Amino acid sequence: MQRLKFVSLILFLAVLTGCSKLNKATDLLTNPTAKERYQRDFGISDELFLLWEDQVQIALKDSVEVDLPFLQTGHFKPRNFPVYSYNLNLKTGEELDVIVETDSVTDLVFIELYELQNDSLKTYKKIADSDYGMLNFSKEIEQPGTFKIIVQPGIETSTPFTIKMKTTPVYAFPVAGGKNTNIQSFWGAVRDGGRRSHEGVDIFAPRGTPVVAVTNGRIASSGEKGLGGKQVWLRDPDRGQSLYYAHLDSIAPLGNSRVKTGDTIGFVGNTGNARTTAPHLHFGIYKGYRGAIDPLAFIFQLDDPSFDPTEDVPEAYNLITRSKANLRDSPNSQNSTVIGSSSAQDTLRLLGKTAEWYHVRTPENMAAFIHESLVLPL
Ligand SMILES: [Zn+2]
Repeated sequence: MQRLKFVSLILFLAVLTGCSKLNKATDLLTNPTAKERYQRDFGISDELFLLWEDQVQIALKDSVEVDLPFLQTGHFKPRNFPVYSYNLNLKTGEELDVIVETDSVTDLVFIELYELQNDSLKTYKKIADSDYGMLNFSKEIEQPGTFKIIVQPGIETSTPFTIKMKTTPVYAFPVAGGKNTNIQSFWGAVRDGGRRSHEGVDIFAPRGTPVVAVTNGRIASSGEKGLGGKQVWLRDPDRGQSLYYAHLDSIAPLGNSRVKTGDTIGFVGNTGNARTTAPHLHFGIYKGYRGAIDPLAFIFQLDDPSFDPTEDVPEAYNLITRSKANLRDSPNSQNSTVIGSSSAQDTLRLLGKTAEWYHVRTPENMAAFIHESLVLPL
């Protein structure tokens, strides 16, 4: 009944306001994807749309892999149907950020995130995509795994571009003024002569250094007991997990109150079984039935990527190989796998460039990287 009323209201609104508002109103009911809205808003024929959308099937077979932070520049050319894919390994506690920069905010680019399935066919399943008309995309990673980002410009999109990808930890650093180098004992380290393993990280800092709430939450409990000594448990309701701060010298008098990111909840010490160790914070994360999980990716601070602008990438559609050349799955020669080779005078389709490496597609539509010294713009 409610739905019927709603539909009537939409039809009524449509009469009043015309078609584009009707689209917006029916979107509430049918929830079209960004790509479906694109086809509709631009009146793209089914034939052309399918040709464009099918490029994603090519990208799903790509095996190009990159480390983050990553930057690539190039030119999107209209009716050239380029598609970009990047395999990434991501950890729980990281947020993936993809930003596409173009000449104009009205340029259309679609960003989709896929996750490698644990099936025998090694298929990828779409788990998220960018909002229609947006040139950026963010997603918090809830399960570690292999992911694939696919970036696809609209059919008529014509612009120089930069693709930037990075991760950021979802939590603040737990020790005020601390940095990664203060973390000196990690998840899984041997404890008690091998009888147990370390279920957190140890962050060393002078006695009395403030420890802070890494996220908005609620103090679930605090006090002195057992191996952890003076301790605080902070509940993170958004992620359904509890954060454990142990060996504190003292606990801030907060009671069971709500705290905001950065609020001081205690001070670094060596209480509990850390009495013979230098003052440090033991920081752990406990997630329901799964128990303790590795907290490192949640707090590991990444260098703000400088994203050095690469020199101008040729506007050419194609590159030609100078000689026999290796094609690699990553833009470097040390940590990459040779996934193919080109003969001299082969034509490769140019997708873009990252540092000294061109991102290309072979005539068989296989994506790869090739060193700039091995090719010439055609
Ligand atoms: Zn510890």
